[in-house]
Amino acid sequence: MLTFMRKRQIAQYADAATSYYFNRYPVDSEVIAQEESITFSYGDYGDYFDGLLQHKCGSFHIFINLNRLELPYKPRTRYTFAHELGHYFIDEHRIALQNGLVPSHPSFNQLISSKNPVEKEADFFASCLLMPERFMRQECQRRPLSSTLIQHIQDTFNVSTTAAIFRYFELSMFPMSIICCKEGKILWSMRTDDFTFKWLPQKGDSVPINTIAGDFFNGRSKSENEEIVYSDDWFPNNTRDNDTELYEKCYYLNANTIISLIWVRERRISY
Ligand SMILES: [Zn+2]
Repeated sequence: MLTFMRKRQIAQYADAATSYYFNRYPVDSEVIAQEESITFSYGDYGDYFDGLLQHKCGSFHIFINLNRLELPYKPRTRYTFAHELGHYFIDEHRIALQNGLVPSHPSFNQLISSKNPVEKEADFFASCLLMPERFMRQECQRRPLSSTLIQHIQDTFNVSTTAAIFRYFELSMFPMSIICCKEGKILWSMRTDDFTFKWLPQKGDSVPINTIAGDFFNGRSKSENEEIVYSDDWFPNNTRDNDTELYEKCYYLNANTIISLIWVRERRISY
């Protein structure tokens, strides 16, 4: 986990990069690279990395591997480019490269997996660069969480579903929890501080049956929209607020992994 202070510092690096070059979005990382005299190339580099920042004789070059990604304007490719800019704009990363203290290290676009702190920092930079807080608040304020809102973030900032969800969560824009499930078991779970249910299912627990995630692992069809579920099913260890109506929206990442967004169904939103 990055500390609050470190996140704030990295957000400032990203804000400095975007506020100078952009007053609109989606942010174009290529323009930022050009302004900084960072050259870049898209190519087929086998399976070795998604992106790579190289330092050679005082110059920086970003390699983007289209063999593992999609076309340049696609969300995952854009995120990888922004991540590599992170290795440049975060002072400690750039200085270590310039001084030859670290080799050019390959980066992989794996938002839901754990990785080393340097990669987490570059990922956080990418999120801040592509989805600046001030613009996120502008787009999301006075709108309750919904699958439509997540789609709106994706479309507005040209980012992937997972990038949109994690940034929205990071900014604590609405009380919610995110639960990642793999092969019928909980992989990890997290919640905003203001989410009503404090006790979440833990790693290794079975996915509860009467949930949308549970439906998927029990062979039922995928659900397109958010559905109503009950707090007793997802959060049985909470003694208060039993039988609260919740919304659950499942995102199916691959054949055996999903993430569920869960939030309380509110009839009236107050701000
Ligand atoms: Zn990296």
